[in-house]
Amino acid sequence: MRDTVTPTHCPYCALQCGMNLTPSPDGSTVEVSERADFPVNRGALCGKGRTAPAVLSSGVRLTSPLVRSEGGALVPASWEEALGRVAEGFGRTRAEYGADALGVFGGGGLTNEKAYSLGKFARVVLGTSQIDYNGRFCMSSAAAAGGKAFGLDRGLPFPLEDIPRTGCVILVGSNPAETMPPFLRYFTELRENGGTLIVVDPRRTRTAEHADLHLAPRPGTDLALALGLLHLIVAEGRTDEAYVRERTAGWEETRAAAMAHWPEYVERITGVSVPELREAVRLFCEPEAAMVLTARGPEQQSKGTDTVGAWINLCLATGRAGRPLSGYGCLTGQGNGQGGREHGQKADQLPGYRKLTDPAARAHVAEVWGVDPDSLPGPGRSAYELLDALGTDIRSLLLMGSNPVVSAPRAAHVEERIRSLDFLAVCDVVLSETAALADVVLPVTQWAEETGTTTNLEGRVLLRRRAITPPAGVRSDLEVMHELAARLGGERNLEKGFPTDPEEVFEELRRASAGGPADYSGITYRRLAEENGVFWPCPASEDPGTGVHPGTPRLFLDRFATGDGRARFVPVAHRAIAEEPDDEYPVLLTTGRVVAQYQSGAQTRRVDELNAAAPGPFVELHPRLAERLGAAEGEPVAVVSRRGRAVAPARITTAIRADTVFMPFHWAGEGRANTLTNPALDPTSRMPEFKACAVRLEAVRP
Ligand code: SF4
Repeated sequence: MRDTVTPTHCPYCALQCGMNLTPSPDGSTVEVSERADFPVNRGALCGKGRTAPAVLSSGVRLTSPLVRSEGGALVPASWEEALGRVAEGFGRTRAEYGADALGVFGGGGLTNEKAYSLGKFARVVLGTSQIDYNGRFCMSSAAAAGGKAFGLDRGLPFPLEDIPRTGCVILVGSNPAETMPPFLRYFTELRENGGTLIVVDPRRTRTAEHADLHLAPRPGTDLALALGLLHLIVAEGRTDEAYVRERTAGWEETRAAAMAHWPEYVERITGVSVPELREAVRLFCEPEAAMVLTARGPEQQSKGTDTVGAWINLCLATGRAGRPLSGYGCLTGQGNGQGGREHGQKADQLPGYRKLTDPAARAHVAEVWGVDPDSLPGPGRSAYELLDALGTDIRSLLLMGSNPVVSAPRAAHVEERIRSLDFLAVCDVVLSETAALADVVLPVTQWAEETGTTTNLEGRVLLRRRAITPPAGVRSDLEVMHELAARLGGERNLEKGFPTDPEEVFEELRRASAGGPADYSGITYRRLAEENGVFWPCPASEDPGTGVHPGTPRLFLDRFATGDGRARFVPVAHRAIAEEPDDEYPVLLTTGRVVAQYQSGAQTRRVDELNAAAPGPFVELHPRLAERLGAAEGEPVAVVSRRGRAVAPARITTAIRADTVFMPFHWAGEGRANTLTNPALDPTSRMPEFKACAVRLEAVRP
């Protein structure tokens, strides 16, 4: 037990709010209090952050490994037995089917140290190419579009503090009032400073209530909306010709594509009127500086990369990228959604945001790892494709920090695939719906019980500190990998390559990332503690003035990260969603979150206060749809798609379009929204189309 106040960060979303933790007298739990010195949230926390310790001491916390008994039940076991079973299960699969029959599925909530170690564990210990993570379902379309346009993707290429000082923000498909409430103050301050906020969302969300202009397009049509705005920008002579000439390439083709999207045509596709389009253009173009911020709305589509690209094109045509107080940014969702994608748990990447197919990157990382570059596997399947291959090509799976039975698209199918595995091992804090299907469950430490780094949505690397002693019986994910490396490495002594001390792992990560796009080599735990975080890239090379690199809060001010320093326009055209409504399925479904729950709810559904505020799923629908259905407020409604059926109480509101219903996705059971969602994938990012699919509604009579 420690008796000091420990400054640290919230375990949940990408804002990574600062908080102080004070252990209880017996050291068994911690109390959260305000930490005003961290600039991102300045002490403010949402209910999830305030109540986060409740999960650690809850009665459902796992404190012993569980193994599947001969009778089929999960029963407590020693660590020795549990780890032995994992090694045996994985060893059997590898011997029978080869290394690529082993799968690894990570999470955007894992610390940088864990994400780094997991990628190394998959490629060095297991020798498999089959690793990906749930962050693929989060921001991969924005990452792909940012990479194409700017040569580098970092969620926000500027700090949050720039937002209140810009002139206009277009917030596309993001609802921070529910997902990260302390973030809303940046928009309040923006408006107090005379700036304007435009919210693009099919629902009049609590965030949209704060907007100067709310555009409510039909789900899946925001690519057309961006093209319509660009058309008007060109037609009204609002492009920044000098900027386009000097700092970009590829404008003519993009301009031609936009001019084919007449405002009246865009109005027919999106449902957003021409006067609304004109007003948005005026608000966006009149100030000297402006930003576009996207989140899951435009990104979780089977054309997510092109949709984000269309919004980036808008920024480039108006000179709004790589300039002070202007730019395009993606609001990452998960706690370490940013860092989690930089250090090697993504199917196609090595630490430092390096490409797995780049021979120089392979050579550099292989040297740090002490292995032959030729021994490193190539890229594997993307997250949904990996889950879809379970039980066929992939026979055994190690899952860390994810709950795909609730969070994956076409969830009933994914659950069936998981059930068909030869062997499943899950590391988790509680018995999630996915862990409940495992052959072995390994109880692990979390957040206040361990030290590690995360990278928030600004690209600011942060230090989370251990504040309490973990309960007896749990181990860290790093210890699990260390132990499994010892058991699966044969004669190779691989456990030595998997330190259990997070700082030691970070020191190796620094070397592995050195010289890469996400260069952490100049960042140390000491600096993170002293400086309240450091923005990457931060190379180790010494600055003549200060002796250390200061980090890079703002990217692209002088040049973009492309070969010639110019940003690239990427021409895009409107196309329909993968599954348009028809006579059988005439309504659109879109999904999202509520303020009191987080992601699959594995943790927040175990907190009484949060459950009282958000006890279960619901179907939000317009009064006209409800009337046609004969459904009253609170009555159960069945939502049916080509993939299954979900039932939840009706919540009737005029805040949603009459052709669309909304369901939050935090729950399992009959109200599981992801039973319905469509796994149609974006061809570039491999992002599934969570945000729009065709459904029909059925009244449920008692
Ligand atoms: Fe935690 Fe996000 Fe809430 Fe902040 S906004 S307290 S980081 S869940």
